[in-house]
Amino acid sequence: MQQFDVIIIGGGASGLMCAAVAGYRGRSVLVIEHTRKLGRKILMSGGGRCNFTNIHNSAANFLSGNPHFSKSALSRYPAAQFIELVERHGVEFHEKTLGQLFCNESSKEILQLLLTECEWAGVQLVTDTRVESVEALEKGFHLSTSGGELQCESLVIATGGLSIPNGGATGFAYDIARQFGLSVGDVRAALVPFTLQPYDLEYLKPLSGISHDVSVSCNGTTFREAMLFTHRGLSGPAMLQISSYWNPGDTIQIDLFPNLDLFEWLKQQRNDHPKSELLTQMSHLMSKRMAQALCEHWQFSGHMADLSNKRLEEIAQQLHHWTIKPGGTEGYRTAEVTLGGIDTDGVSSKTMEAKTQPGLYFIGECLDVTGHLGGHNFQWAWASGVAAGQVV
Ligand SMILES: Cc1cc2nc3c(=O)[nH]c(=O)nc-3n(C[C@H](O)[C@H](O)[C@H](O)COP(=O)(O)OP(=O)(O)OC[C@H]3O[C@@H](n4cnc5c(N)ncnc54)[C@H](O)[C@@H]3O)c2cc1C
Repeated sequence: MQQFDVIIIGGGASGLMCAAVAGYRGRSVLVIEHTRKLGRKILMSGGGRCNFTNIHNSAANFLSGNPHFSKSALSRYPAAQFIELVERHGVEFHEKTLGQLFCNESSKEILQLLLTECEWAGVQLVTDTRVESVEALEKGFHLSTSGGELQCESLVIATGGLSIPNGGATGFAYDIARQFGLSVGDVRAALVPFTLQPYDLEYLKPLSGISHDVSVSCNGTTFREAMLFTHRGLSGPAMLQISSYWNPGDTIQIDLFPNLDLFEWLKQQRNDHPKSELLTQMSHLMSKRMAQALCEHWQFSGHMADLSNKRLEEIAQQLHHWTIKPGGTEGYRTAEVTLGGIDTDGVSSKTMEAKTQPGLYFIGECLDVTGHLGGHNFQWAWASGVAAGQVV
C-alpha cells in the first residue's frame, strides 16, 4: 500500500498546476492519468500554439450557475501570474487579438513548463493507470487502481469535462461528485461549431472556408468576431462563443455588417454607380462567392438605379438581421469545453474543497465554471489548481 499526502486524478492543465504548487509546499504528491499522455488538451490547444491565458481575464468571462464563484481563485492567481511563470521558463509568446496570449512556437512549451515545475516540486506522475474505486476513510481516502492500492490525505479530482472523448475525456469527476453527495447540473458541449438544417446547408455549404466578421446574438448575449462557413455549418470564434449561450431549438441572429449602416451605404452606391449591378456592389463588402450565394438565395438582384429605397431597406434589414436556426452542434467530438458540471454551491470558492467531504477537492473544467473562448478556460484551470494546491 502506497501512501501520499495528495493524490490528484487527471494529468491535464489544472491537475499538473495543482500538483506543482502542492509539491513545492513539501507535500508528497502523486498524479494519476488514465491515458498514456499527460496534458493532451494543452497540446491540442490554440491550433498547436496554446492560447494559455487572456490579459483581460475576469469572472465576467465565465458562465456559471454562480457568477461569483470564480472570483476568489481568479483574483488570487490572475493572468499576470501565469504570464510571469511563462516568462521565467523562457517561453516566447505574443498577443494575437483581444488579449489572447499564444506561444510563438508550440503548445509543447506550456506542457513542458508544467512538467518541469512538477519535477522541481518532486511530484510523481503515473500514466496509463485506471482508478477503479475511491473510498473515504476516517481521515483521507483509499483508492483501488490498476497500479495497486493507494492511500492519501487529500484527493483532488482534475479529470476535466466530456469534450474530445477519443482524447481521454470521461465523466469520472461527475461520478465522484455524486458519490460524495454533490449535485451535478446538466452538461452540454460548448465552444463548438453549429451544424445547419438541410435547407440552410444547401445554399451555405458551397461557402465552406470563407470567413467574415460578424456580430452574432443569442439569448441576450452578443459577440463580435469572425464567422467561418464549414461544410457542416457555421464555425469560427463568433459561432464558438455564442454556442455557449445557445440551446437546442433557439435561433441565432447574425449581423453581417456590424460596422456599417448598410441602407445608407447602398443609397450612396446607387447615387455614385447607378448602372452597376447590386451583386457587384455587394462584392465590395464580402467575398464574391458569398455575395453570389446570398444574393441568389434571397433573390437580391437588379441595377442599383432600379432599386427603390424600400427595396434597399429590405436588403439591409435582411443582412443586418439574418436569423438562422441551427440544426444542432458538432457535439463533444469537437467541442472545446463542457458547459455546466459540478454545482459550485457544494464547493468552497477559496479552496475548491467539497463541502460534503473534507479532503476532497474538484478543480478545472469539471466544475460549473465555463470560460469564453480566448484563454479563459486555461486561466480557470491554473487559478483553481493553484487555489487547491495551496491547501491540500
Ligand atoms: C481542441 C481544444 C482546444 C482548446 N484550446 C484552448 C485554448 O487555446 N485556450 C484555453 O484556454 N482553453 C482551450 N481549450 C480548453 C482547455 O483545454 C480546457 O478547458 C482545460 O484543459 C481544462 O483543464 P482540466 O485540467 O480541467 O482538464 P484537462 O486538461 O482536460 O485534463 C483532464 C485530464 O484528466 C484525464 N482523465 C479523464 N478521466 C480520467 C480518469 N477517469 N482517470 C484518470 N485521468 C482521467 C484526461 O485524460 C486529462 O488528461 C481547448 C480544448 C480543446 C478540446
